[in-house]
Amino acid sequence: MSSLQPVRGTHDLIGEGQRRHAHVVDTARRIAGLYGFDEWSTPIFEDTRVFARSLGDTSDVVSKEMYSFEDRGGESLTLRPEGTAGVCRALVTNGLTQSLPQKVFYAGPMFRYERPQKGRYRQFHQIGAELIGAAEALADAEVIAMGRDILKALGIADDTVVELNTLGDTESRAAWRAALVAYFTEFKDQLSDDSRARLERNPLRILDSKAPQDRALVADAPLIGAFLTDEARTFWDDLRSALDVLGVPFRENPGIVRGLDYYGHTTFEFVTEKLGTQGTVLAGGRYDGLVAEMGGPRTPAIGWAGGIERLALLLDSAPAAPRPVAVVPLGEGASGAAVTLLQALRAHGVRAEIAYRGNAKRRMERANRIGATHAVLIGDDEVARGVAQVKALDEGSQNELALDAVAPYLAGAVGC
Ligand code: ATP
Ligand code: MG
Repeated sequence: MSSLQPVRGTHDLIGEGQRRHAHVVDTARRIAGLYGFDEWSTPIFEDTRVFARSLGDTSDVVSKEMYSFEDRGGESLTLRPEGTAGVCRALVTNGLTQSLPQKVFYAGPMFRYERPQKGRYRQFHQIGAELIGAAEALADAEVIAMGRDILKALGIADDTVVELNTLGDTESRAAWRAALVAYFTEFKDQLSDDSRARLERNPLRILDSKAPQDRALVADAPLIGAFLTDEARTFWDDLRSALDVLGVPFRENPGIVRGLDYYGHTTFEFVTEKLGTQGTVLAGGRYDGLVAEMGGPRTPAIGWAGGIERLALLLDSAPAAPRPVAVVPLGEGASGAAVTLLQALRAHGVRAEIAYRGNAKRRMERANRIGATHAVLIGDDEVARGVAQVKALDEGSQNELALDAVAPYLAGAVGC
């Protein structure tokens, strides 16, 4: 058998990579908590209809990117390509549509069959937030502010800007759609094949096309602004005032239409110039129709998802690996006392390790290699006297302490 490799577009998270990843998730979870969001975990695979229905069958995700398969019972299942559809399905199947609003945070792997490149993978990870059951523009603004606070807490807010748009309400969108069809029909021959196919079924999608020949046409396409109903315009005004009050700077960009079918009113992307074409780190919008697609009542909702890999790439540095204390028995007779001490350290919240083999010199080398702050040395003489030598490895100073004083002392010294 040829040597085994990770599947194309997947990667292992080890060492610094895992620490960056966890730092993004931990930070997001903490900030989401401040905004009153609770974490949900929904399954990684769902009935294929959960996604096919909600994302819209003209979306890139559904038409080209899903990992769908039949299981042994003959059911069509799909590895989740995003988190929102599963959360809405869970809201309905757990009978929570009458307990609104629900404020949901999630983090986990997503799967899309895409061409892998930096910042774009086939198994990637997202953090996400959904605020379900609030129709007010303040909800949209808060959800965006929370995204920005997460980027701030990660120290990367200054590398990004919030691009904001409105897709209006259903009536605004219908008028805009008709104008887009009329406009693109005029240039039908110049459109990419994909976009020509989208022309009748979903012309908004053309605006999101990455094909260069489409981009040129999109630049002059009619904008939603001219088609907003009074109601949609009021919502758009309210959103921008709320963002001002919350102190969230934004840039209006009529090109932000989002790749999925379920959005209306607010759409936004946090973009950076530091990641080339994979520059969107966090994106979302309002999706008032989705819960109904899952069989629930019509329910207003707004949310976003952020790409953990892209956020991790922007971090200046990874959080340092925590430094342990190394327990070093000197000779066989001390090993029992050493292990007792090891457990006492852990019970005091100190990260502690013991080298399993080797002479004293070897074990001290290992203590240095793992970056230990202290080595605790115990030989036969120490056991007999009920003490241990505590060596601060950065300073090189050494201290003799009673055995039962070692753990509380080190807990204080390493700040537990
Ligand atoms: P893109 O335009 O880059 O394909 P998208 O619109 O498909 O992004 P969303 O569905 O909005 O992306 O997902 C939200 C975020 O998840 C993106 O802004 C991005 O940060 C991240 N993301 C999406 N697809 C991938 C992927 N294949 N690999 C890594 N991160 C991804
Ligand atoms: Mg995509």
